[in-house]
Amino acid sequence: MKTIIRIVTRFIPRRYLNRVSHFFSRIIGLFYLGNKVNCPVCGAKYRKFLPYGRFKTRDNALCPNCLSLERHRLMWLYLQDKTNFFSAPLKVLHVAPEYCFIKRFEKLNNLDYITADLESPLAKVKMDVHDIPFEENTFDVVFCNHTMEHVEDDLKAMRELQRVLKAGGWGIIQSPINIKRDLTYEDPSITSEKDREEHFGQKDHVREYGLDYPQRLEKAGFEVDVDKSIEQMDPELVERFGLLTYEEITAEDYLYIVKK
Ligand SMILES: [Zn+2]
Repeated sequence: MKTIIRIVTRFIPRRYLNRVSHFFSRIIGLFYLGNKVNCPVCGAKYRKFLPYGRFKTRDNALCPNCLSLERHRLMWLYLQDKTNFFSAPLKVLHVAPEYCFIKRFEKLNNLDYITADLESPLAKVKMDVHDIPFEENTFDVVFCNHTMEHVEDDLKAMRELQRVLKAGGWGIIQSPINIKRDLTYEDPSITSEKDREEHFGQKDHVREYGLDYPQRLEKAGFEVDVDKSIEQMDPELVERFGLLTYEEITAEDYLYIVKK
């Protein structure tokens, strides 16, 4: 099972994988039914989550029902416990929307919810995050996760998100972080897929963030609040909701909350 999932996730981009695999994962999920883990996004309960990962396959990662991963479940809990996202009237821009969230956010009557992406067939508005086609101070909330490591000029993209956010607005901008790096590594002369994979960890990544990631967001004009509440959470709940990417909590498991 692990090998099959590794092969599939390595060769099919996640945005397509979501559509194809949803059907199959629900069937596989029947074999995982149980009561040990609980997906906060969709409410489904399993013996454990499915393994997932392109290179190092992580156990207990993917919800067979909604396809949420650790980071999605963490974000959902944050929105639920620490924000008024599910009740307040908010205008929301969701760039590169995650499959597990789209339908659930679209159903929320309190939101004016816009999904956007350059390529993803899941998004409503086709746009380049370097040049967002909205006026400044338009949105109360922006989400843009696992995108900045792919874009040519991440600072420009971050500044664009900051520009369209209203004063007093907030957002979540998550990116993969190599915790062994203090400083973000990028080199525009590295362009082939093979070299990018070797240097940045994935063939379509153009940089690898280090522990300076929050400073990078600050450089774009955001106030950044690194939410480390997973450190205070009851370890049983961390286990139950399947929130940890690796064996211990790292900077990848924090939430990077941006404010204007
Ligand atoms: Zn789920």
